Amino acid sequence: MQQIAFIGLGNMGAPMALNLLKAGFALRVFDLSAEPLRRLADAGAQVAASPADAVSDADMVISMLPASPQVSRLYLGEQGVLATAKAGALLIDCSTIAAGTAREVAAAAAARGYTMIDAPVSGGTAGAAAGTLTFIVGGAADALERARPALSAMGKNIFHAGDSGAGQVAKICNNMLLGVQMIGTIEAINLGVASGVDAAVLSEIIAKSSGRNWTLEVYNPWPGVMATAPAARGYAGGFGSDLMLKDLGLAAEAAEAVQAPIALGALARELYRRHSAAGHGALDFSSLREL
Ligand code: NAD
Repeated sequence: MQQIAFIGLGNMGAPMALNLLKAGFALRVFDLSAEPLRRLADAGAQVAASPADAVSDADMVISMLPASPQVSRLYLGEQGVLATAKAGALLIDCSTIAAGTAREVAAAAAARGYTMIDAPVSGGTAGAAAGTLTFIVGGAADALERARPALSAMGKNIFHAGDSGAGQVAKICNNMLLGVQMIGTIEAINLGVASGVDAAVLSEIIAKSSGRNWTLEVYNPWPGVMATAPAARGYAGGFGSDLMLKDLGLAAEAAEAVQAPIALGALARELYRRHSAAGHGALDFSSLREL
């Protein structure tokens, strides 16, 4: 049986790891926080004492961490993955990070004889729980094929975006659009409600009109419209506003590098910056009200 090390069991990582267990993979897991480790242990995973302990026997390493600094440290740091993983292990980073960092870590992995792909995801926590995520892969095609059985246990769509780092570029383009769409949806519902139209009625109308989009139809930001959306639980869980702010920063960095105009992406970043500064960074990104 293939042994997988899974590192980073947050809102996304924990349900992804649970789906690997369900599919029959043997899992050794690590996180800095004890609560998700207990949950995974109850479901049949072995709990590791450190990243090195998690990866030393693993055929495949999967990481799902917040951002570039954590990924760099996990792979390149002292007693990190590149210093401790089994020879020939396939390394898969599913976090959303800077394309440059993804390329740098993959190159360092290659220099040590490991194959690494970037495989950021789309689909949110609901997609992670349901095993219907979209994986956006950068790296060699044969490495993607080696990863496919594990990725298929966690997701429904697997795209090969190109070489190392290309998965991150495609992901950041998607998330910049997501941030812009979320703000547009919040603005539209806010305007409608302030003018006396019921939020659920308005959402139903737009969902059948030309303003329809994912944030309105699947992830509605208004409390009381959609029982499954973070808005129905006080914006807890989901995709943190600070993570959206990070992604909009990555988009700005990528745009600067190629001089691509991103007027709306830059405005979205500023609005999420204000939201975060107002103390709402841990809430789901649909909680934004600093318009
Ligand atoms: P999260 O903050 O809920 O989880 C991150 C986890 O990593 C936490 O459990 C934390 O304890 C752990 N962690 C941090 N540093 C660590 C380390 N050095 N070693 C081990 N564990 C460590 O974040 P999330 O929502 O699960 O997102 C993870 C990544 O996926 C981010 O890059 C995010 O941008 C991306 N993403 C999130 C969503 C979403 O809807 N939440 C959707 C798509 C992509």
